[in-house]
Amino acid sequence: MQQQDVIIIGAGAAGLFCALHAAARGRSVLVLDHANKIGKKILLSGGGRCNFTNREASPQHYLSANPHFCISALRRYTQTDFEAWIKKHRIAYHEKTLGQLFCDDSAKAIVSLLEAECTKAGAAIQLHTLIQKVDALPDGKGFKLQTSQGLFACQSLVIATGGLSFPTMGASPFGYRIAEQFGLRVLPVRAGLVPLTLHKQDLERFAALAGVALPVKVTCRGQTFQEALLLTHRGLSGPAILQISSYWQAGDTLDLNLLPDLDTFTWLQQAKKSRPKMELKTLLAEQLPSRLAQVLCEHYLPNRSLHHYNEKDVAEIAKTLSAFPLKPNGTEGYRTAEVTLGGVDTAEISSKTFESKKVPGLYFIGEVLDVTGHLGGFNFQWAWSSGFCCGQFI
Ligand SMILES: Cc1cc2nc3c(=O)[nH]c(=O)nc-3n(C[C@H](O)[C@H](O)[C@H](O)COP(=O)(O)OP(=O)(O)OC[C@H]3O[C@@H](n4cnc5c(N)ncnc54)[C@H](O)[C@@H]3O)c2cc1C
Repeated sequence: MQQQDVIIIGAGAAGLFCALHAAARGRSVLVLDHANKIGKKILLSGGGRCNFTNREASPQHYLSANPHFCISALRRYTQTDFEAWIKKHRIAYHEKTLGQLFCDDSAKAIVSLLEAECTKAGAAIQLHTLIQKVDALPDGKGFKLQTSQGLFACQSLVIATGGLSFPTMGASPFGYRIAEQFGLRVLPVRAGLVPLTLHKQDLERFAALAGVALPVKVTCRGQTFQEALLLTHRGLSGPAILQISSYWQAGDTLDLNLLPDLDTFTWLQQAKKSRPKMELKTLLAEQLPSRLAQVLCEHYLPNRSLHHYNEKDVAEIAKTLSAFPLKPNGTEGYRTAEVTLGGVDTAEISSKTFESKKVPGLYFIGEVLDVTGHLGGFNFQWAWSSGFCCGQFI
């Protein structure tokens, strides 16, 4: 049986970052993963360029049953710390928009750096390893792991197996099962940062617009995001929709402001005066994709020449355009979701060390916990912050 100080299950962002920091403290560290490659989601992320953090990251960018849980780790290892680390290792990067930092070239640079730093610090990584059984050793002496590659034992066991999104990338419910095995509460999970699907009637109306994108302000459950919306063959996507999907619950209606930068009522009134013979459809096409203007005027708005509308009509049209109600019928699910909402209840975990309060020596970090970031580099920042902080204590 191989004995280690620390075994980390999951060679993703959180697991690798934790491994290199624990090894740098002189701990013997082994990272186990069932996949054939490390950091698969890093490689896939940000269109292959990895949106590795966000300069604006703060606790308000995270969803959790306990919104205070993430504060301590995000303060102890900040986005500025990670940016400095990337800079120190000469990975070229740029700010794309809204504080989002991306690699200039490829996400591979980050995975190679994590691997190189693990090797330098002495942390070993073993892939193709199925974890068959985990048992606590008697008298709190650590854990024993039965795997497809033999038996292992460790003092500290870190679960960094992430969530359920993108099962093709090795995602599994392993972390939740381990939590349950040891009597820790797991909060219900669902797909987050995910495209939303539409009911048949709306889909039929919008299907021909697949590929059309426009800036919107979308509101649901008191949350508003102003970013791009993309119409797809299945329904709605684009950053605005991915963001709101983490708040949307089955049965909710989205309010879409289709002209977020316009005082729509005033604009319509002025157009009515200056161009009374113009049809609404033609006017809307000045501000919206023309095919969308057409669909709106076919199904949702009365299309007439502007002089036919009285003030009440104009107010109604303005209201429809600035709070267009659309009721999705679901999400595309884990297949295309970027994250998993819910997970191991943070009430079970120390926000300082990431150790289970009930099971000494057992730690949870990264996405497996009930902490989920907005779109824009916040999820990787959580992986770095939780991995670093845990790495100081194991
Ligand atoms: C397509 C896509 C794009 C994304 N883009 C971004 C982005 O640009 N910016 C951002 O901040 N976030 C992004 N995310 C989210 C981000 O990738 C995750 O939040 C982050 O990877 C979580 O890190 P983690 O280490 O907790 O889990 P993961 O990165 O998921 O790592 C978990 C590891 O555990 C391993 N594992 C799972 N089950 C087992 C098991 N049973 N036995 C052994 N090993 C196991 C997996 O193989 C994997 O290596 C994206 C996600 C996706 C799917």
